[in-house]
Amino acid sequence: MQVVYHIFPSFRPNIFLQFCPRTRSGQDQDDIEQPQWLQEYVAELQTHGTQAKKAIIYCRYIGQVCKLFGFIMATLGKSAWVNNEKLPKNLIVDMYHSSLDIDSQERVVNSFTTDGNLRCIIATIAFGMGIEVHKVRYIFHWGLSKTIVDYWQEVGRCSRDGEPGTAVLYRTPTRGHVTTDMEFKEMVSGVESGEVPCMREAILSHLWMDEMGPQPVHDEDSCQSTCIEECKCTKCMCCSVCRSRCPCRIQK
Ligand SMILES: [Zn+2]
Ligand SMILES: [Zn+2]
Ligand SMILES: [Zn+2]
Repeated sequence: MQVVYHIFPSFRPNIFLQFCPRTRSGQDQDDIEQPQWLQEYVAELQTHGTQAKKAIIYCRYIGQVCKLFGFIMATLGKSAWVNNEKLPKNLIVDMYHSSLDIDSQERVVNSFTTDGNLRCIIATIAFGMGIEVHKVRYIFHWGLSKTIVDYWQEVGRCSRDGEPGTAVLYRTPTRGHVTTDMEFKEMVSGVESGEVPCMREAILSHLWMDEMGPQPVHDEDSCQSTCIEECKCTKCMCCSVCRSRCPCRIQK
């Protein structure tokens, strides 16, 4: 008898899902030039260099990739390179997209997958297919992916070893030929309006099929409301929506 294992979709409880709502309309252009949402990670790169946690930043347009790369390079200054030598192989942050020459694409993939100097890749969805990267701790999405399936696959590149990781989803308007499925847009609108009680369960419910059995849900709320510093209950470790509803945070 042939046994079929469904390895996808998986629940991935080790990845915290952070949603960043769209800023006031017309502000998005400014956000990519001065992305507040990324500053914490860029500070980590600046402080820890090649010891910083690995990140992939997904964008929908090559133009966004270039802008973000420029922002991070300008912020890092000299610390964007190791050994004070401005050679491509010494970069701790780089970009990846379909218009890049083959040599650069190979250099980026090799450095990122073999524990070279590279800690952060800013990429279009061209990056990742068939590439196995270990110990990626952050996945950022600047703009929604095309579908929920694509989104969950991209998020799935985070912390495959089961260690804690974070996926940040930033909503931006789409333009031109770049589109997002209605299903994904509606789910995200539900998160924004507070109708969706948990991002993870909402995503999974779109990917789950009846023959897989009952859909997993996260454990019962484990907050005792006695957490002194940072609450580590199942709600606070799940997603930004669940976290905002933890009794601990409501009390504060
Ligand atoms: Zn949740
Ligand atoms: Zn708590
Ligand atoms: Zn909590």
